[in-house]
Amino acid sequence: MSTQTLPTQNKKAAEIISYDPGTGKEIGRAPLSSLEDVKEAVAKARQTQPAWAALSYQERGRVILQARALMLAERDQFALLISQETGKPVAEALSMEIVPTLDAMHYFAHAAGHLLRPQKIDIGQYGLMGRSSSIVFRALGVIGIISPWNFPLATPADEVVMALMAGNAVVLKPSELTPLIALKLGDIFRRAGLPAGLLNIVTGDGSTGAALVDARVDKIMFTGSVATGKRVAEAAAKYLIPVVLELGGKDPMIVLEDADLENAARAAVWGAFANSGQACASVERCYVQESIAPKFIEKVVAETRALKQGLGIEGGIDVGSMSNENQLQIVADHVNEAKRDGAQVLTGGKRGSNVNGLFYEPTVLTNVDHDMTIMRDETFGPVLPVMTFKTQDEAIKLANDSRYGLTASIWTKNVAKGQRLAERIEAGTVMVNEVVYTHGIAQTPWGGVKDSGYGRTHGRMGLLELVHPQHIHVNRLSFLPDMWWFRYSAQASRLFGDLATHFTTGSIVRTSRLLPQMMRRLFGSRE
Ligand code: NAD
Repeated sequence: MSTQTLPTQNKKAAEIISYDPGTGKEIGRAPLSSLEDVKEAVAKARQTQPAWAALSYQERGRVILQARALMLAERDQFALLISQETGKPVAEALSMEIVPTLDAMHYFAHAAGHLLRPQKIDIGQYGLMGRSSSIVFRALGVIGIISPWNFPLATPADEVVMALMAGNAVVLKPSELTPLIALKLGDIFRRAGLPAGLLNIVTGDGSTGAALVDARVDKIMFTGSVATGKRVAEAAAKYLIPVVLELGGKDPMIVLEDADLENAARAAVWGAFANSGQACASVERCYVQESIAPKFIEKVVAETRALKQGLGIEGGIDVGSMSNENQLQIVADHVNEAKRDGAQVLTGGKRGSNVNGLFYEPTVLTNVDHDMTIMRDETFGPVLPVMTFKTQDEAIKLANDSRYGLTASIWTKNVAKGQRLAERIEAGTVMVNEVVYTHGIAQTPWGGVKDSGYGRTHGRMGLLELVHPQHIHVNRLSFLPDMWWFRYSAQASRLFGDLATHFTTGSIVRTSRLLPQMMRRLFGSRE
């Protein structure tokens, strides 16, 4: 059993050291960017952004597609580095990071122009007065992206691509645990011909992230824990910087008695143990209907025991190491507390004993309840606690009994019923017969409710976070003074009263009754 603590930083040398959490070996170093470095990056970004925003979507898309081509050509190097820096299996680096990133790059490079096309607004009866309104979507300027370590490529890369396609410049502050992936991402954009200054990577720790907020970027896209998210929102509020918060989850999976048991069990195991359970959308709580619980749990345990745990870079590994000692300790604390309070460990329940590094065995628990931390707080590790329920109402109540609301899933062969129940769950995304993966769909919005944060990334809603809608209003009858302008005679007051009664109903017929009064006001004397 390994109990090593991996150091993550070396502040004296003003650099951060990146370690392979599966072996404890150093794999590289990156600068610990100072406040001055961050300010300089933001200034550079601000300087280069207007020329970038002036390009067409097609021209911006060409650069993204060139970067995509380079990433595809170097996908094995990317996958290896992701695996080494996080401990996840190479297969997962490919399926859960590289595939969705390439897909998002392709999608936004082609679709952003269409998704952000100018929009005409129906302004009702004002339209009959020779006026028209449209919305154009303008880039915000400089977007600060602060990202975590669990998906060190997919999380920041998608946001970088969306921000650039929307015409912004970016300063990215990746997690101090995974700086090398971010630097490699920056490198391919540089080689793809992205003008210097448009994508700046400032590696460093929390102080570097705080400096990015203080450098007064135009928006912060933050992904990370609830505690840090609150700190970031508070700091940003000082300068009225808007923030998108993609925070933690305690995602429930509900398995109804008419579910496909075999597949639901496999989904529960993948949903809880992929990425060693270190996904914001991991299955963190499983509720199974009493009548099928014994069979379901038996299948889950068998499937879990068959998983192979080991070094991510080795072939045939299902579950890699965890990414850092702190997180592993949280997992151990949650499980130990649950055991102390009566939880039953069906498999796992301890650190990996046959490997060195930060491994925790895939763990299945029963006899758990909502008084236990393991059912309330985000565990963010390879643990699947399972509870039973009798009725659908009870299942929904349990699912909603959480301060989080990121994703949830419902398992049933009756899809209509699944959809009805989905709408009763408090979460940003609810899946019927699916788990975890919708962050990988570039077209759909991603984000949470309650403590899981606010704002969205991905899809059109995500793009809209990265622009401001500018309303352009035109009056083609420029020679006519408006009815509501000065002077306010008794006649004017009568007309305004009549407008309140008739115009505001939206009825052209009723408003037309006022035509003589309106004409007098428009063309006659206002004294
Ligand atoms: P974290 O909050 O510790 O760190 C996130 C980032 O914030 C890091 O880059 C860190 O250096 C930076 N940071 C720390 N202090 C800061 C400060 N004061 N000001 C600005 N930046 C600061 O989170 P983590 O441990 O890296 O990531 C795990 C968490 O992320 C989990 O809670 C997980 O659920 C969440 N997460 C959410 C999503 C989502 O889409 N909702 C996706 C992935 C991870």
